[in-house]
Amino acid sequence: MSQKTLLHTTQEEQIALEKTHGAHDYHPIPVVLEKGEGVYLWDTDGKKYFDFLSAYSAVNQGHCHPELVRVMQEQATTLTLTSRAFHNNRLGNYMAFATEYFGFEALLPMNTGAEGVETAIKITRKWGYLRKGIPKDQAKIVVCSNNFHGRTTTVISFSTDPGSHDYFGPHTPGFIHIPYNDVAALQEVLENDPHIAGFLVEPIQGEAGVYTPDENYIAACKKVCEDNQVLFIADEIQTGIARTGSLLAVCGNCSCENHCERQADTFTKPDILILGKALSGGMYPVSAVLTDRHIMDVIQPGQHGSTFGGNPMAASLAKKALEIVRDENLMQNARELGHYFRAQIQNYINTSELVLQVRGKGLLNAIVINDSETGQMAWNICLRLRDKGLLAKPTHGNIIRFAPPLVITKKQLDSCIGIITETLASFEK
Ligand SMILES: *Cc1c(COP(=O)(O)O)cnc(C)c1O
Repeated sequence: MSQKTLLHTTQEEQIALEKTHGAHDYHPIPVVLEKGEGVYLWDTDGKKYFDFLSAYSAVNQGHCHPELVRVMQEQATTLTLTSRAFHNNRLGNYMAFATEYFGFEALLPMNTGAEGVETAIKITRKWGYLRKGIPKDQAKIVVCSNNFHGRTTTVISFSTDPGSHDYFGPHTPGFIHIPYNDVAALQEVLENDPHIAGFLVEPIQGEAGVYTPDENYIAACKKVCEDNQVLFIADEIQTGIARTGSLLAVCGNCSCENHCERQADTFTKPDILILGKALSGGMYPVSAVLTDRHIMDVIQPGQHGSTFGGNPMAASLAKKALEIVRDENLMQNARELGHYFRAQIQNYINTSELVLQVRGKGLLNAIVINDSETGQMAWNICLRLRDKGLLAKPTHGNIIRFAPPLVITKKQLDSCIGIITETLASFEK
């Protein structure tokens, strides 16, 4: 079949091609998309949808943001890749900008989120040996149950999700699990083991189903880490870059108006911050690890790297993606519309048998469906949402995540709340 024929098949045929010729590592909602703009997506039949997943929060800035498209086009015809064997004229500029933006001294550029996590693990372990004096190969990192930090072999070694973890061993040792949202458990384990180098945590567990911890959890964990000379590592790949209504989810409820004020007393500065996803506005895989000099400098030439990490395309896109977040006030929009969204959905839930809860922060939210019978309810709801023009996906069976691009307007959100509540109502007994 020629390429032309392939592109003019029906959605069913496209899906069948993937099924026949591809690995079956995903179970997508059956819709074939071909175009995106802002909060909207279009399928190959021209049907328009609201995107309520935002590629797992990678397109906070909206699909095909014109400024990002311009930067990408310009950079594509100028210089895309040099490797780090040489300097390029975009990387230093981006590093200076991003470290100032997030309040750290140094940035290490990678591509995917999982690589960012791997990098943070390597830095943490080496810091443990060089600075804390942990005996050779004894360093441990504490992680939480139900974590999601990516798909590489070391990262899935400490996943507690059987699908992610089982049959992929032998697993990388050196990780200790504690329950999420349990400061006492962290304290207990840190105080009794001098070989712990770091505590790796998501400020909100996104993939697990948007679990938001207690208000003081992050700050309390940081304090316990400090008291025990353990690095506090925040995986903000999904929660960072304005998604939860502040620049970072570790900013807590600071009420800064324009850009984040680092003085805000609710801000908890992680020792190591991992970013990805929206760092490029969905144009290209860009991730980064940010930390201060005394930690970052445990890595010296030849000890870490990536062929594509820090390339001029990635650096240009990431800088622009962060500028858009600031210039378009996406933090404030996410915070205000997030409150509004949860209030409206809560109104619905008050008279609902079907929906048990709405939770989240900013525009990272989820509803929990009351589904003890079939286990199919959330999936069926997502299919009907699709039919009505809104794309969302269930996570962990009975949870539906709602995370539109942060450029969504109040008017658009009102339409979406209408679609969601009508759809839910059609499933009530
Ligand atoms: C998506 C995600 C990752 C992995 O990012 P990839 O780019 O898919 O490798 C890691 N941690 C968190 C919290 C994520 O949401």
